[in-house]
Amino acid sequence: MDDHQAVPDLRVDERTAATPSVEVVRLLRDALDDAVSTDPHDLEAARADKSGHASPAPPLAVVSARSVADVQRTLEIATAHRVPVVPRGAGTGLTGGSTASTGEVVLSTLAMNRILEIDAADELAVVEPGVINGDLNDALAPHGLWYAPDPASRAISTVGGNIATGAGGLLCAKYGVTREAVLGLDVVLADGTLLRLGHRTVKGVTGLDLVGLMIGSEGALGVVVGATVKVLPRVEGEVATIGAYFPDVTAAAAASASITVARQRPAAMELIDAPALERIGQYLGLGLAGRGQAYLLVQTDGADAAAVAARALELIEGHGGDARLTADPTEGERLLAVRRAFHPAMAAHGTVLIEDVAVPRSALPRMFAEIARIGERHGLVIPTVAHAGDGNLHPNFVFDGPGVPPHVWAAADELFETALALGGTLTGEHGIGLLKRHHLGRELGDAQLDLQRRIKAVFDPLGILNPGKVF
Ligand SMILES: Cc1cc2nc3c(=O)[nH]c(=O)nc-3n(C[C@H](O)[C@H](O)[C@H](O)COP(=O)(O)OP(=O)(O)OC[C@H]3O[C@@H](n4cnc5c(N)ncnc54)[C@H](O)[C@@H]3O)c2cc1C
Repeated sequence: MDDHQAVPDLRVDERTAATPSVEVVRLLRDALDDAVSTDPHDLEAARADKSGHASPAPPLAVVSARSVADVQRTLEIATAHRVPVVPRGAGTGLTGGSTASTGEVVLSTLAMNRILEIDAADELAVVEPGVINGDLNDALAPHGLWYAPDPASRAISTVGGNIATGAGGLLCAKYGVTREAVLGLDVVLADGTLLRLGHRTVKGVTGLDLVGLMIGSEGALGVVVGATVKVLPRVEGEVATIGAYFPDVTAAAAASASITVARQRPAAMELIDAPALERIGQYLGLGLAGRGQAYLLVQTDGADAAAVAARALELIEGHGGDARLTADPTEGERLLAVRRAFHPAMAAHGTVLIEDVAVPRSALPRMFAEIARIGERHGLVIPTVAHAGDGNLHPNFVFDGPGVPPHVWAAADELFETALALGGTLTGEHGIGLLKRHHLGRELGDAQLDLQRRIKAVFDPLGILNPGKVF
């Protein structure tokens, strides 16, 4: 599609014309002092996230909020002067969702990074939005607790950003995604109003589920300034790991589907196809491609770890997998290292567009076959990794230079069509952001898209929050 080739910047409009930029910056500085930066380095950094997309020009200013009051003050000024505001966490997003451009103010919650409370009795934690996911888990460990949502970026992404994108990860099929881990949220609306949504009880159905609405809303409805999250008792006992090579990806996908059908619940089940395996092998200096055309990693935990692993092994071997099962942590880590090397191995070959679609788990073999066919049709190799336990695939497009070539967009379009045709969805965990907004209506249909736009307008009547993203 043509409209992808240079993602147009719909965010720059006449809204800022009423108040000159210099005046907006002065008002922000008067109110927030040194929390406001116009340092070219900070502005430049805010043009991009980890999607590979950068906005056409730097934003007006970056506000590094230190408190809820800072967020409220920024949004009050933005509302009064019709200034577009782009909420931002750590900027690790993969859809251009936190990228900012001309006339926009970036509202970073990264410095609001205190863990306010860990309540071991009620199994919850109260955090500011800028807390890094991995840091929360480090703080929970001495209490025998952990926070389950585990994006592969957990060492670098914020809990607030995870909530805004509805992040998933490797352990989601067994332990749930971000949506299942949030009890309550403090949110500042576009006009500066602070809302406390949800509850700190296990149950709670009072009124509409606005917490649910905020999760995955990508900074378009409000700014998350606090979260009460559910934490789980640490899983005790041994961990068993299986690394299995298959003659083809269809057999590997069928094996993973059969593990689910057999009602077994590994903690992680990750599938890597042949093009990805070849690049990972090169990256690690190992001849992995010679061992098979696909790799399935299965990890089991908890009291029944050994039994689930034994049954999974049986099913894997039944589907032609050449498997190694171990309960030794060092050996397990070695088998997992193949999966961990996926992202750096892709990045070593050029610019990477990481796509994200999800299909019903039973459709995983079909989706892999279609990805190979789409690649052939467009003269592309599309290395793909899947969270096989929940049917979530990340086909990667690797190319030279900063811009996504037209034939890559054409292949990505077909990928989205195929996922939808198989009963799937456009995004399993990364969100819509800037890069997929053209496709939103395709999945939602006109009536739902219109309803969603009207909901957005209720929260943000002036349309100043993350304009041009999602909708
Ligand atoms: C190597 C790598 C691996 C990754 N693996 C995974 C994975 O396994 N699973 C997964 O789901 N994602 C993954 N991601 C993507 C990314 O890390 C997630 O989307 C993450 O949730 C983004 O968090 P962030 O703090 O970086 O948010 P940002 O990128 O800064 O922002 C993301 C979106 O959230 C909004 N936002 C941020 N903070 C707030 C706030 N306080 N209030 C309101 N809106 C806000 C922004 O406007 C934007 O729309 C990966 C990224 C990388 C680079």
